[in-house]
Amino acid sequence: MNIDLLLKGGVLPDGTIADIAIAGDTIVAIEPGIPAAAGEAIDISGNLVSPPFIDPHFHMDATLSYGLPRINSSGTLLEGIALWGELKPLLTEEAVIERALAYCDWAVSMGLLAIRSHVDTSDEHAMTGVRGVLAVRDIVRPYLDLQIVAFPQDGFYRAPRAREFTIQALDMGVDIVGGIPHFERTMEDGRRSVTELCEIAAERGLRVDMHCDETDDPMSRHIEQLAYETQRLGLQGRVNGSHLTSMHSMDNYYVSKLLPLMAEAEVSAVPNPLINITIQGRHDTYPKRRGLTRVPEMLEHGITVAWGQDCVLDPWYPLGTADMLDVAFMGLHVAQMTSPDDMRRCFDMVTTETAKIMGMEDYGLEKGKRASLVVLDAGDPIEAIRLRPDRLLVVSKGKVVARRDKQDTALALPGRPSAVSRRFRR
Ligand SMILES: [Zn+2]
Repeated sequence: MNIDLLLKGGVLPDGTIADIAIAGDTIVAIEPGIPAAAGEAIDISGNLVSPPFIDPHFHMDATLSYGLPRINSSGTLLEGIALWGELKPLLTEEAVIERALAYCDWAVSMGLLAIRSHVDTSDEHAMTGVRGVLAVRDIVRPYLDLQIVAFPQDGFYRAPRAREFTIQALDMGVDIVGGIPHFERTMEDGRRSVTELCEIAAERGLRVDMHCDETDDPMSRHIEQLAYETQRLGLQGRVNGSHLTSMHSMDNYYVSKLLPLMAEAEVSAVPNPLINITIQGRHDTYPKRRGLTRVPEMLEHGITVAWGQDCVLDPWYPLGTADMLDVAFMGLHVAQMTSPDDMRRCFDMVTTETAKIMGMEDYGLEKGKRASLVVLDAGDPIEAIRLRPDRLLVVSKGKVVARRDKQDTALALPGRPSAVSRRFRR
């Protein structure tokens, strides 16, 4: 067996221990005690090895622009959109590319190797970002898969030329059709925008991923239209609703009708817990709504759900590190998913579940799949969420792209060990 890279003794997410043999960009064997001599062998024994993290919801055109031209003082979605409107005319393609590439470096260092990014297509200024992110998609292709969503952020009908530029972006090679029905001027315009955008996707054979009902208004019910159009146009399994925060505030009877409709239409969901817990509920006094959509309930109905990051250091969010374990950690808390099964599921919701939503068929730690993976200083997926630990090794498409030495903290305490790692039952 010809092997270029052999990883020895890693702990797979299901707890089994195996060696992983890689030739070219493919996993050629995954089993205990692979004897073959490799180009390079790396001992990862005792450490969790997982398929890479995936972020199904991001904004690459705005990332790392925090403070440009000013900071969001109210912390609301609407001020964020207004602030982005001030920044857009100042964008240059070079600056967008530079910031996005810097972000992709962070992502790779955290084992985050596939990202679905929305890009604004509302007006001519936004198109600078579209051109920049399209260029970045080509540059990072050898090590990071970037899917791009045409996103008429100021409203497909509300912004006078958003329709024209959204279609132009798709003609330029943007992969997916987006939308923002709750930001249109009327409920009826929101409903119509869902219909027309889904028709555009169906005609072009594209997937759909909409910012949908990102509001605390329980009457924002565009997800219903999105599920209906998915079935009408035969788009089952190819449509995602992002955020869906209004569902948090909806009437329970209505939700009991809505969730089966979503399941039947095979519409997936991407909540963005870091952003939703920060931005929603800003108009409330107390009690203050969390604004996260109904994650455990959707999972019970068999709906595919994955955690998204949404923002890092941009007009909407002042923090972020490209660590999908931060996202899973926050989601687990806000959705109260604290049973062992639920915690484990939160890890799947930044790895395998996300791959389903993104249609990544070559993803996973299996023979014959693409050799992309991450090794973490943790013993299992739950511990990975608890510690959000160092990424010791990142392999993308067969090549080592990031590496870090394990470093326990040295202690100087009388009668205590000389070092501590915070791992549990190691
Ligand atoms: Zn978003």
